[in-house]
Amino acid sequence: MAGISEEINERITRVRKRIAEAAERSGREPGGIALIAVTKTVEADRILVACHEGLLDFGENRVQEALRKIPGLKSKGCTARWHLIGHLQSNKALRAVELFDMIQSVDSLALAERLNRVANESGKRLGAMLELNVGGEEAKSGFNPAELMEALHPLAGLEHLDFRGLMAIPPFLEDPERVRPYFRQVREMLMEINRRQEFAQPLTELSMGMSHDFDIAIEEGATLVRVGTAIFGPRPETN
Ligand SMILES: *Cc1c(COP(=O)(O)O)cnc(C)c1O
Repeated sequence: MAGISEEINERITRVRKRIAEAAERSGREPGGIALIAVTKTVEADRILVACHEGLLDFGENRVQEALRKIPGLKSKGCTARWHLIGHLQSNKALRAVELFDMIQSVDSLALAERLNRVANESGKRLGAMLELNVGGEEAKSGFNPAELMEALHPLAGLEHLDFRGLMAIPPFLEDPERVRPYFRQVREMLMEINRRQEFAQPLTELSMGMSHDFDIAIEEGATLVRVGTAIFGPRPETN
């Protein structure tokens, strides 16, 4: 156990340093950037270490897996906030609303409407982010830009959802510098949405950047970075 804790704590220290350095390079406050530890495939004992190290936000991408882990972690005193960052099937919306504090992967108007109904029935106002398919990749979910602009008006009318901003998963490119234009495009999209003034409050959050490119994402305005392997180590190969 001591070995596991040390390894994870050292990685967290390195990640925090990278966040602080990227913030400094871009004249931003490190406190304005939230670190979300992505825990897919990570076992509960390792997540608990990160929780005890003081991480406040965690992300899972599947409801079933989250259901196996989150209640147990809460019962062990881990009071972190949980973010859903993977595609949500609408038949799992109720479970998701019960488990998560924030749904970052709202990728269609139909899903948003479903979440709004479920949140209403659960007596909750649910934190949410709109997922933008910034690379236009077929295999990835998310609104394309034109589609999102058209959906703004109906989205803004969903009163049980508290939209905070945009989430994006740009194409994976070996050289993170080449991802910069995508991050920039997401930020510009947020500004364009705010210019339209559909939402009662301006959207302020940008969830973008993963282990290999979050430094660049921060330079381009990320306020939430989603970091898995840089904290927990490499994941087993999946599908
Ligand atoms: C897995 C995942 C991450 C974290 O990826 P790493 O490269 O391990 O940091 C971030 N965002 C989403 C949506 C993910 O599925």
